[in-house]
Amino acid sequence: STTHSVDNHYVHGLDRQYVFHSWAQQGSLDPMVIAGAQGCRVWDYAGREYLDFSSQLVNTNIGHQHPKVISAIQAQAASLCTIAPAHANLARGEAAKRIIAKAPTGFSKVFFTNAGADANENAIRMARLFTGRTKILSAYRSYHGNTGSAIAATGDWRRVPNEYSSGHVHFFNPYLYRSEFWARDEDEECERALTHLRRVIECEGAKAVAAILLETIPGTAGVLLPPKAYLQGVRQLADEFGIVLILDEVMAGFGRTGRWFAFEHYDMAPDLIVFAKGVNSGYVPAGGVIISEPISRYFDDHFFVGGLTYSGHPLAMAAIVATLDAMEEEGIVENADEMGNGPLAKGLQQLAERHAVIGDWRGLGVFHALELVSDPVRKTPLPGAEVLKLKQQLMEQGLLVFTVENRIHVVPPCIVTAAEVEEGLAILNSVFESYAVPA
Ligand code: PLP
Repeated sequence: STTHSVDNHYVHGLDRQYVFHSWAQQGSLDPMVIAGAQGCRVWDYAGREYLDFSSQLVNTNIGHQHPKVISAIQAQAASLCTIAPAHANLARGEAAKRIIAKAPTGFSKVFFTNAGADANENAIRMARLFTGRTKILSAYRSYHGNTGSAIAATGDWRRVPNEYSSGHVHFFNPYLYRSEFWARDEDEECERALTHLRRVIECEGAKAVAAILLETIPGTAGVLLPPKAYLQGVRQLADEFGIVLILDEVMAGFGRTGRWFAFEHYDMAPDLIVFAKGVNSGYVPAGGVIISEPISRYFDDHFFVGGLTYSGHPLAMAAIVATLDAMEEEGIVENADEMGNGPLAKGLQQLAERHAVIGDWRGLGVFHALELVSDPVRKTPLPGAEVLKLKQQLMEQGLLVFTVENRIHVVPPCIVTAAEVEEGLAILNSVFESYAVPA
């Protein structure tokens, strides 16, 4: 029982006393209190409102509190809250059917997990079982989740203190702005990155490599749009060496780039598609693996040694069905394309031209990153403390963004309106206008 009035102070206090946080030194936290949300906006108990251009962790593609998704979850809760994965269940079947309908031809089954990390975990498991090989090649500039194999496959710093599983090898993916290959243009970057990957495969022993795992567009690493020919080249390498190609679409998928899947921009397809986040915007946790025909057929007469109590949880499945239907009916993926590649991209480009602190701007759909530099010629990354200062100033003016290292990721929900784009861009402009890089 509580006699407290619920306000920012009470909720903040509860959190600080009892909640252990992700990726944090626990003693120095000051979490923002959120009381409620609607569409692209969130607010606290004092009525302070924010335009959410972070989509939380780049997952609320359909926005907050979509009425069709809420009622689907409520209806499912009233009829059947939970059921073991071995049973056939209507919501699970309908969700899988819809996901297969969005996937390219040649994909036949869906394995459901609780989130993105365990989806990567199981895609890796499938690739190892299917090929009888062990090694997983993945990119240094990547994030695949924080469980055993998913964190070992991750390229960024979060892998190093968590590196307990073997069989993971990393390579450099293309990133022209900070090229690892001394490339001068995108063609050179692409060609050299592919040559490097071929050499890694040869040196690791092609017959030992089960899978190449890539984020189609590395997200947390900085929205690193690969050159057009790169993913096609990786597809060819995988085919040449009998390696399974896994594309992690956890952040880039389900509308984020203005397509259902980001690889649709690249005229190619993987063997396994990993998804989570946008599939139901996180209203109920869910993720999974979309399995191509040959791998799916392999498991018709080979035992799959994997499973989860909540695989295909009815509440999560009902949320997927309603989310995908609403996205379809309301043209939400088309909206991400129109708003993201129209006014949002134009506005960010103008900001990058106007403000020298923006060293590079990249993006597609509602998936953009501004790379901040203290010296545009040397491309010196703006120190983290300065980025936090900017983030704080944006929040003071009512805008939430996703920041990583020296970057501001501008990643609004796929439902963002032209007026909201204009509002967000104006706040960004005003903060950059009054910002001076410290000498
Ligand atoms: N893969 C990618 C590309 C991600 O961005 C993330 C999370 O940010 C994950 C996997 C892990 O997903 P989860 O946190 O749902 O386990």
